[in-house]
Amino acid sequence: EEAFLQVSDLRVTFPTADGLVQAVQGLTYSVQLGRTLAIVGESGSGKSVSSMAIMGLHDPKSTRISGSIRLGGTEIVGLRQDQMRKVRGSVASMIFQDPQSSLHPFFTIGNQIVEAYRAHHDVSKRVARERAVDLLGRVGIPNPRRRLNDFPHQFSGGMRQRAMIAMALVNDPKLLIADEPTTALDVTVQAQILDLIADLQRDFGSAVIFVTHDLGVVAEIADDVLVMYAGRAVEYGSAHKILGTPLHPYAWGLLESIPALTGEPQPLHPIPGAPPSLLNVPDGCPFHPRCEFRSRVPGGRCKTEVPELIPRTADSTRASRCHLDDPDRIFQTEILPRLP
Ligand code: SF4
Ligand code: MG
Repeated sequence: EEAFLQVSDLRVTFPTADGLVQAVQGLTYSVQLGRTLAIVGESGSGKSVSSMAIMGLHDPKSTRISGSIRLGGTEIVGLRQDQMRKVRGSVASMIFQDPQSSLHPFFTIGNQIVEAYRAHHDVSKRVARERAVDLLGRVGIPNPRRRLNDFPHQFSGGMRQRAMIAMALVNDPKLLIADEPTTALDVTVQAQILDLIADLQRDFGSAVIFVTHDLGVVAEIADDVLVMYAGRAVEYGSAHKILGTPLHPYAWGLLESIPALTGEPQPLHPIPGAPPSLLNVPDGCPFHPRCEFRSRVPGGRCKTEVPELIPRTADSTRASRCHLDDPDRIFQTEILPRLP
């Protein structure tokens, strides 16, 4: 049976004055209802771009999309803008790092949720207001009926984030995409927002995609993980496997660079170097300039040959894109001992 969201060989490119940006280069994954997929990577890995494409939020004039995105059995690549608008906010909705991008400063919170509901439901304002009160209550806003009349600036950052989540949920979306929704918040509020999304997902049974660079967040919320680098998936599998025994050197680097759970403020071993410009992706494995293991692969293949995404289990529930033939052993004997 087809998953609720099925992305197949997705490619996203946009021409710029400096050349063609290949932001996503052949991405395939699926998410079932009731599951949470974390898409992990640094900025410029294609993690946000691929999500924007699913929501139809890319600029249609300058962006080229190919491949397939099937949502509830319907192909959405190639839909017209007006058709996509019907999908957005009802079947699928998105929450962002910055609530400012979804909440208009000149309208009350209540007004905005009411309008988001009425855009997809033929109901009176009174009915829609009751819906807004109910949702604001569910996302943990005290005195929701009174707070309905507040403007966004009268809410704290964490409260604005909750209001945006309420607005994203108002039409019972089957797919919720959360793009770094906790990054700008302090740790306590972050934890509350993660709990909230997990609770809401349980209640609504939606598929959730969580876009993040933070493996701590992944451990908290994800069932499955897709690690992206330079526009491609480099590792895929259950959160349990990826956090426990990752197979790709980039995933090892991410694991080593998270601050210890004891709360040390600085990453212990940040990955050296920076992700490549998508205008100029290195030949071979795009990670090779930063990879301390490239000399382990004979024949200099890391510099010349793009690795395939290789299934690592018989049922293909786990895959990685690397030329190393014994990543398991290297992880166990060399990486694990140096983790905090
Ligand atoms: Fe490192 Fe080579 Fe694997 Fe790329 S293919 S991650 S350079 S070992
Ligand atoms: Mg981003």
